[in-house]
Amino acid sequence: MPVLDSKLCMKCFACLSACPNSAISESQNGPKFDNKKCKKCGTCAQMCPAGAITV
Ligand code: SF4
Ligand code: SF4
Repeated sequence: MPVLDSKLCMKCFACLSACPNSAISESQNGPKFDNKKCKKCGTCAQMCPAGAITV
């Protein structure tokens, strides 16, 4: 399950389109991860320009 550091997130939502499993949705506080859909591939963490996601 990816963990978001909300202090680093700039809400660009690059992670959302990068997720191959559509496990990320938009929320006011940044990306919201769907536990059931996430395959822990790490793509979102790699694509985040702010380094705000840890998988
Ligand atoms: S890519 Fe990174 S900075 Fe952009 S919304 Fe996702 S977590 Fe936040
Ligand atoms: S780890 Fe992979 S499957 Fe999970 S939210 Fe990130 S990009 Fe999507």
